[in-house]
Amino acid sequence: MTATADVIIIGGGVMGSSAACNLLSDGLDGRLVVFERDPVHERSSTGLSAGGIRQQFGYRDNVLFSRYSVGFFERFGELMAVDGEAPEIDFRQKGYLILAGEDGLAALRRRYELQRSLGVEVSLLTPEEAQARVPHLSLEGIAAAAFCPRDGYLDPYAVMAGYEKKARSLGADYRAEAVVGVTRERGRVAGVVTAGGEQMLAPIVVNAAGPWAGEVGTMAGVEVPVVPVRRHVFTCKIPAELDYELPMVVDPSGVFVRTETGGRILTGRADPEEPAGFNFAPDRSYFLDVIWPALAGRLPLLDRVGLERFWAGLYEVTPDHNAIIGEHPDLPGFYLIGGFSGHGMMQAPAAGRALADLILKGRYEAVDATPYCLERFARGELIHEETVI
Ligand SMILES: Cc1cc2nc3c(=O)[nH]c(=O)nc-3n(C[C@H](O)[C@H](O)[C@H](O)COP(=O)(O)OP(=O)(O)OC[C@H]3O[C@@H](n4cnc5c(N)ncnc54)[C@H](O)[C@@H]3O)c2cc1C
Repeated sequence: MTATADVIIIGGGVMGSSAACNLLSDGLDGRLVVFERDPVHERSSTGLSAGGIRQQFGYRDNVLFSRYSVGFFERFGELMAVDGEAPEIDFRQKGYLILAGEDGLAALRRRYELQRSLGVEVSLLTPEEAQARVPHLSLEGIAAAAFCPRDGYLDPYAVMAGYEKKARSLGADYRAEAVVGVTRERGRVAGVVTAGGEQMLAPIVVNAAGPWAGEVGTMAGVEVPVVPVRRHVFTCKIPAELDYELPMVVDPSGVFVRTETGGRILTGRADPEEPAGFNFAPDRSYFLDVIWPALAGRLPLLDRVGLERFWAGLYEVTPDHNAIIGEHPDLPGFYLIGGFSGHGMMQAPAAGRALADLILKGRYEAVDATPYCLERFARGELIHEETVI
């Protein structure tokens, strides 16, 4: 007998689990199955993420998505509690301090005005005011900074696990299996085929496969323009003199750094030259040649850091580095929630909520994800977001 479900989600990372949780808590009446082939999340983007959370974007809907998500993360323990047990996601709101040189000043001001108009508690700082927040900061080449105290970072794995536990408590059926085929019938999505040869029918299939979203699109016979791009994270032991917590400091070079637990810093930078591909091999020389010189220039005290751990994960990148949310225009019933590049953790609560509204009510309610539709690429209406970090 062929198994059936009402909704199948391919991928149990933060997006699949946020979507599952939102669908079930918003009243999905039926069976929801999540297929996750890597249940320990060794290679999922969520498991390898840096967990930065910021509202400081340049594109209106990215600001609104993050704003929704920050409010959600502030109440995550309460909202995701199961049997009175609240998940701990360690959301540390130490702020994001975004630095700009003379050439970035006009854009920083423009973003500041936009964010303020949308209710974000961001301030524009002089270089000296920025230094008052981070006393070891070098002001070389800095013309201004923006700081939002409600931004910060959290434990990405704990967020995903919190969503999954809640979704399971609401009836989600998580299967540790790979999907190898997406079936169609009469021009609609019809279900999936697993690596074990099982067929499951469902009128709705959600592609939440992160960096593998393009492959899952191919299984369904449609194009999903998401490619994997390697990104690094490095953690280092810090000199004892740094006796305060760093906010997430974002240098004009693109290098970011923040305090990590246990007397460490966490740092990285998105390499614009990195080619697309499923490359998980971390490259130590990227730290030595690119990150460390910029870090030591901006925070000279960090000249003496000792590299401890480093890893590489995959951003899921679309042609404009922003998400795709919604039903695929060429395959009714096949929904997409992916392509978040470096801002998936901070958009996961809003994205899952938006997708659940679309599936259950046929329209967006809590947050509007219309700008993230796949059709924008064909129309040439790409999202311009200058702060993809
Ligand atoms: C190094 C790094 C740093 C980052 N830093 C930040 C940050 O600071 N802030 C931020 O907001 N975002 C950050 N991100 C981005 C963020 O982590 C991702 O956007 C987000 O985790 C994507 O979640 P996802 O659920 O879409 O993908 P994933 O977490 O990759 O989940 C997709 C899942 O689908 C499963 N899957 C795929 N194909 C199949 C199949 N055929 N069958 C069954 N299962 C399948 C995979 O096993 C995987 O677990 C970072 C990402 C990386 C890699």
